[in-house]
Amino acid sequence: MSFEYHEPTSLAEAVDLGARFGADGRFLAGGTDLIIQIRRGKLRLRHVVGLHRVPGLDGIDANGSVTLGALVTHRALERHSAFQGRLRALVEGAEVVGGHQVRNVGTVGGNIVNASPAADVTPVLLTLDTTVTCAGRGGERTLPLDGFLVGPGQTALRPGELLTGLRFSALPGRSATAFLKAGRRKAMEISVVCVAARLTLDAAGERCAEVRIALGAVAPTTRRARAAERALEGRVPTPDALRAAGRLAAAESQPISDVRASARYRTLVVETLVTRALTRCLERIRDAAS
Ligand SMILES: Cc1cc2nc3c(=O)[nH]c(=O)nc-3n(C[C@H](O)[C@H](O)[C@H](O)COP(=O)(O)OP(=O)(O)OC[C@H]3O[C@@H](n4cnc5c(N)ncnc54)[C@H](O)[C@@H]3O)c2cc1C
Repeated sequence: MSFEYHEPTSLAEAVDLGARFGADGRFLAGGTDLIIQIRRGKLRLRHVVGLHRVPGLDGIDANGSVTLGALVTHRALERHSAFQGRLRALVEGAEVVGGHQVRNVGTVGGNIVNASPAADVTPVLLTLDTTVTCAGRGGERTLPLDGFLVGPGQTALRPGELLTGLRFSALPGRSATAFLKAGRRKAMEISVVCVAARLTLDAAGERCAEVRIALGAVAPTTRRARAAERALEGRVPTPDALRAAGRLAAAESQPISDVRASARYRTLVVETLVTRALTRCLERIRDAAS
């Protein structure tokens, strides 16, 4: 493992280094994915650009719309008071990433750019209609997270571009989120399946106004289960309707069999977890109203 390490102290300098090194270099956040890939020989890089001295990339602003800097750690997400209510799924996703050491340094930006189909925080962000902002020599651009994830380990980032942050709208009243993960053991485990859900009820609190469901570890990227979302929108969320959404989400998933689980098992788990996550959202909305 031999590379030249750079530590820019401004965004402009980081952008400049990224543009100079292109595919010969990578940005380093917490290093919990990158360093392992370099050590295992999966990546041969000539340059690594550490982002920790670039100011302004680790902020959380939750007054109105929520903005997260790319260097916000999982630990910071877990502990932030703004995410204990309607946005609880963010805490639930962050608190199951690895162990304490990993969560103390691993970042939300790294989770997204690493683009693992089994990433835990990315599905939650998909249910929040998150947009990501990237910076490169051509300037800044903002694009939907849904679409930014192109394939396993692949994103829409251009060579040399870095992710600076993400943004999503605050959730209206009568909304809740939930995240559930199944693994082979309870801690320090990559997801066999993970599911995030968001539910917003209409003004009467009777029908589903907006539904988002995202799945992890059952397709080449973390992805939305759009047919299941559409089937619930406008409907009364009865237990039968939630179970039907679970079945539709399972039908939309494209799992593979690997060392962690068979495709068949994953499909069954999607059905169960989606039904359970939607039910949990509904319970949370009702608890908040009572
Ligand atoms: C023991 C262990 C357990 C783990 N368990 C889980 C788990 O349960 N769930 C889970 O989701 N993940 C898990 N991970 C993976 C990892 O911790 C997370 O994906 C983490 O969020 C990665 O963030 P990082 O800051 O460490 O990224 P890094 O390793 O620094 O970077 C990851 C990739 O993103 C790029 N990158 C990072 N930041 C930027 C940026 N701002 N702009 C452009 N490119 C960038 C890097 O170049 C690299 O390609 C685990 C890792 C370990 C070592």
